[in-house]
Formats: sequence, C-alpha cells, structure tokens
Amino acid sequence: RRLLDALIDQAALAIERVHLVEDMDRAQRTIETDRLRSALLTSISHDLKTPLAAIMGAAGTLKEFAPALDDQAKAELLGTVIDESERLNRFIANLLDMTRIESGAISTEPQLGLHYVGDIVGSALKRARKMTVGHEIDIDIPSDLPMLRLDPVLFEQVLFNLLDNAAKYAPAESAIVIRGRENEDFVVLQIMDEGPGIPPQDLERVFDTFYRVAKSDQVRAGTGLGLSICRGFIEAMGGTISAGNRTDRSGAVFTITMPVPSEEPFLDNPT
Ligand code: ADP
Repeated sequence: RRLLDALIDQAALAIERVHLVEDMDRAQRTIETDRLRSALLTSISHDLKTPLAAIMGAAGTLKEFAPALDDQAKAELLGTVIDESERLNRFIANLLDMTRIESGAISTEPQLGLHYVGDIVGSALKRARKMTVGHEIDIDIPSDLPMLRLDPVLFEQVLFNLLDNAAKYAPAESAIVIRGRENEDFVVLQIMDEGPGIPPQDLERVFDTFYRVAKSDQVRAGTGLGLSICRGFIEAMGGTISAGNRTDRSGAVFTITMPVPSEEPFLDNPT
C-alpha cells in the first residue's frame, strides 16, 4: 500500500512537471508570437507603403499629365506601376506563406508524393526566368538521383526564393550553380552564386524572420522573409537548410539536405 502511495506521488509529481513544461512552452510561444506580430507591423508599414506610394505617384502623374507626356514617359510610369505591383504581390505571397508556417497549416509526411528534384529545379528556374535574366545558370543534377518525398509547390517556392536572392545579391551576368548529389541516405542540393557571400556571424541569422545583413539594406530592396520561409518549408518536409560561403571564390552557398525515403513495406499484401 505504501508502495502504491509512493507511485501515486511520483505520478502526480511527473504530471506537475509536464504542466510546468507546457506552461513554459506556451509562455515562450506567446513571446514569439508577440515578437512576430510587432515585427510584422513594422515590416508591413514599410514594405506595403513604399511600393504603394510609388504606384499612387506614378498613376496620379499619368492621370493628371497624360496629354503632355510622350510615349516613353508614359511607358516608364506604367513600368513603375507594374514593377511595384509585382513587388507588393510577392510580399503578400510571402506573408501568406509565413502565416501558413506559423499556424502549422503545413503538414507533410505520408501524403506527399515522390518527386525527382531535377524536375522541380526546372520549374523553379522557369518561374524565376525574369529575375535571373543575364545570369549564366549551370545545372548539375544527375538523372539517377533518388526520388524524394516532398510537396512540389513548397519545394519550388524554396528554390525560387534562393534563385531570387542569388540573382539579386550577385553581380549581373555572374553564374548561378545548382548542384545535386546523393550522399548516403540523403540528397544534397546546393545553390551557389558569385556575389559577396554572407558574413560568417550572419550565416545562421539570415534565416530569422525579417533579418537582413546590414549592408544589403542599402544595396537591394528586400523584406528578410524569403529565407525564413525557405527554412520553414524545408523543415516541414523533413529536411534541413543552411547557409555558407564558397571556398573556391567569393559567393554564397545554400545547402538543402533531404532524406531519401526508406522502402515502403508491402502493407496491402499480408501473407
Ligand atoms: P531579403 O532578400 O528579402 O532581404 P531573405 O530572407 O531572402 O530576405 O534574406 C535575408 C538576408 O540574407 C538578405 O537581406 C541578405 O542580407 C542575405 N542574403 C540572402 N541571400 C543571399 C545571397 N545569395 N548572397 C548574399 N547575401 C544573401
């Protein structure tokens, strides 16, 4: 009987501990949500207002001065409207992606199909064609790489964000290399550019939501969302993503590692 009491005491203690951990977890999540919310507000006020102001300015000028403007001036103003609308569109798509990650709406695992990564690289390149124009693209992906279990839409988005960055931060006409390799039970995909690379102290932080390397603020427009989306998607699919710098020359390397699915047991054939 005393043994039973002791067991009950132990169990009660264990339950209390679990509650404590749960409470801490909840508190931590609230802090993170609060931080995300205020970061979102700051970013929205800047990233939505800036292109909107440009669109309103260009459209207003067009409306008011159309008769006095020559064709080239009109085309330039319209170009601004289109470019800035695209920027807005991309930012909103990024925000939606982030929300999906934050809310855990991205579920993966068994329902995902098997895909050849070279196909997804192809479709990502097609989508990124406008941004990568002028760049040399070297694709080195063996045709016998094992199939991966992934969501092709999410995976394409990750590659698109990485290609967008490679084209954005590296000089025009520089080469972008996409290399795939099988390494034991993993497929490793690398996207390399010939830009300035990433300072060693920022290699981990570039995946934080809204984080940007200080210098790139002045060089290129951006939101600091792209890479955190990449990490959220890749981890949701059971892989990892990391940033590094090339050793053969200046440039950044992004490495995605995805597990090769193990052979499925023959469930529907019991003997
Ligand atoms: P954004 O590009 O919109 O700022 P990202 O999350 O995609 O946001 O990237 C975060 C930061 O990481 C960028 O601001 C930039 O400083 C750095 N970065 C990302 N990709 C590269 C790259 N290929 N070369 C150099 N720096 C990069």
